[in-house]
Amino acid sequence: MITDIKRLVRKNIQKLAPYSTARDDFKGSADIWLDANESPYANSWNRYPDPRQKALKARISEIKGIPQDNIFLGNGSDEAIDLIYRIFCNPGVDNVVAVAPTYGMYAVAAGINDVEYRPVQLGEEFSFNAEALLEACDINTKAIFICSPNNPTGNSFEPADMLDVVCRFEGIVVIDEAYIDFSASASMSEYIVDYPNIVVLQTLSKARGLAALRIGMAFADRQVIELMNNVKYPYNISGAAQREALELLGKEIEDEVAEICRERGYVSDNLLKYKCVEKVYPSRSNFVLVKVANPDGLYDWLVKDGIIVRNRSRVKGCEGCLRITIGLAGENERLLKSLGEYEKSNIYR
Ligand SMILES: *Cc1c(COP(=O)(O)O)cnc(C)c1O
Repeated sequence: MITDIKRLVRKNIQKLAPYSTARDDFKGSADIWLDANESPYANSWNRYPDPRQKALKARISEIKGIPQDNIFLGNGSDEAIDLIYRIFCNPGVDNVVAVAPTYGMYAVAAGINDVEYRPVQLGEEFSFNAEALLEACDINTKAIFICSPNNPTGNSFEPADMLDVVCRFEGIVVIDEAYIDFSASASMSEYIVDYPNIVVLQTLSKARGLAALRIGMAFADRQVIELMNNVKYPYNISGAAQREALELLGKEIEDEVAEICRERGYVSDNLLKYKCVEKVYPSRSNFVLVKVANPDGLYDWLVKDGIIVRNRSRVKGCEGCLRITIGLAGENERLLKSLGEYEKSNIYR
């Protein structure tokens, strides 16, 4: 197991003198603020926002039961993903390993940062294979990306299997839990205390229903969080997003999540009644991956009927598959009805 995180950090980042904002230089309270070249005319947005988002972090800390020093907030989890590359991966030299198929941003961010991306296909029924992931690593592998529950397959992986990788890999293990609220599994964030190489990603974009605010979270060892804070843009989360999030986090989401999980079961069971549906993969998230006879044909049919799903049939390992997000009960019913009409129309064609 790795304990010395510093050793993994790019030399230029180790030496970095981070930008110090006016708010970093003076943190107390005062009557007159003449330090940040802001407009003195009050309009509720004329002051720069808190670069460390303390109020919002305090609330998230309460909800998640994680100390503030172990929380990074980003402009979506996509910012956290990009930061992992920028902090740990030397462009043109280092590589990362990831389960496959999975969330597309890990590969895109690798490409942008000129980091080699090594996808490792999941096993039968999208099962996790620690051995295969570790075998794909070499001396220049700085991070392993694991998404659980995984997008687009929908299944989640066993904590023990993920910990096995964490213990045996001498680098950062990113565990993306964007869909954890739908999974009935505990977060891996409880392990950040014992394993300084775990970075758990969560987001307000899915179960929390705040995708437009663009707020992602990373939970990790203080050293890693400090590095992320030093490398991020100083004001990476707007004042509007911080304010709205703080207010909207007061709302309970348990009923909505329970309803989506119920609907997920209903949609999964009913999809299987159609002849064009070959397989519905078990899901621990708010979508289902469905294997169908003619994915392009069905996709186009649904589009004409005003229903947009995600065509994943050209993704390696997802051949024949559409990914369908669980909507409101009425929306799901419309989807199933449209599928029935699709089958009828095919019979008479
Ligand atoms: C949707 C999603 C995210 C969320 O990204 P944000 O930038 O926080 O909106 C992260 N990871 C996975 C796997 C996702 O599917």
